[in-house]
Amino acid sequence: MNWISNYVRPKINSLFSRREVPENLWSKCGECGTMLFHRDLAENLQVCTNCNHHMAISPRERFRALFDGGTFTEVPVAAPKPDPLGFRDQKRYPERLRMAQRQTGEKEAMLVVEGEIGEVPAIAVAQDFAFMAGSMGMYVGNAILAGARRAVELERPLILFAAAGGARMQEGILSLMQMPRTTVAVEMLKEANLPYIVVLTHPTTGGVTASYAMLGDIQIAEPGALICFAGPRVIEQTIREKLPEGFQRAEYLLEHGMLDRVTDRRKLRDELVCLLRMLLKMPSKVQGDLPPPGDVLVSDASSATRPPPTAAE
Ligand SMILES: [Zn+2]
Repeated sequence: MNWISNYVRPKINSLFSRREVPENLWSKCGECGTMLFHRDLAENLQVCTNCNHHMAISPRERFRALFDGGTFTEVPVAAPKPDPLGFRDQKRYPERLRMAQRQTGEKEAMLVVEGEIGEVPAIAVAQDFAFMAGSMGMYVGNAILAGARRAVELERPLILFAAAGGARMQEGILSLMQMPRTTVAVEMLKEANLPYIVVLTHPTTGGVTASYAMLGDIQIAEPGALICFAGPRVIEQTIREKLPEGFQRAEYLLEHGMLDRVTDRRKLRDELVCLLRMLLKMPSKVQGDLPPPGDVLVSDASSATRPPPTAAE
């Protein structure tokens, strides 16, 4: 019977299954399974046009859609000592870093920038889940510190977009030290009486949730985002009980008083402009008077005319 399941069945399947869709042009929504053209998806800020499922968005893409005219300047971040523990699992830590740099085109898991959002000068920091699961190492600590210092120096508010699998195990105790360190950075903002707004995106977990990501003056989350310290699976295994539907998701946390808002990514900019103006006691502006955000980044313009893939079975 083995040759039927091991040889004949895969052969038949391969004959009948349709050709694979080029990865760079079409993405499949993880929630509803709809095939989405990359340009439509980029224009909709990586939110599924069918079911509104929020997919991951890179920090640069997010900032383009956030800042007036899509323009912002990077704030330099001090480079930490590389590979302080000489860590190695299946791969050496520096090798993992290089891989993540190649895949994302970014230096590290956090980007710090400054610019104007609805004519309000602000500093923004975004964590990149695509870069080693956005894990919090020394660089991320340095980045938050750099963002907070710049905010205090220029007397501007700080907006932080969190996304992380937790602390970076390759840096051991040094990554855990970023929890008190970033808490001090947030304290600097509070002492200077500057607003600190946190936007929690999917997923924000571990030591990040136990430090800077939960210390905002206003806590906003994107719809459906998983926000927790220990994940649902770990809790279920420990207490041996079934957890309620939607446990630790943004909507559940809003209902239970852990968040102030759950906001659709496409409405987030307007909401941030409104909040920043309120917190900074600036006069409110009429929507139409404010400059628009930048155009979306679409990597391959020539592919726009490509026909859609044949419908999946
Ligand atoms: Zn969908």
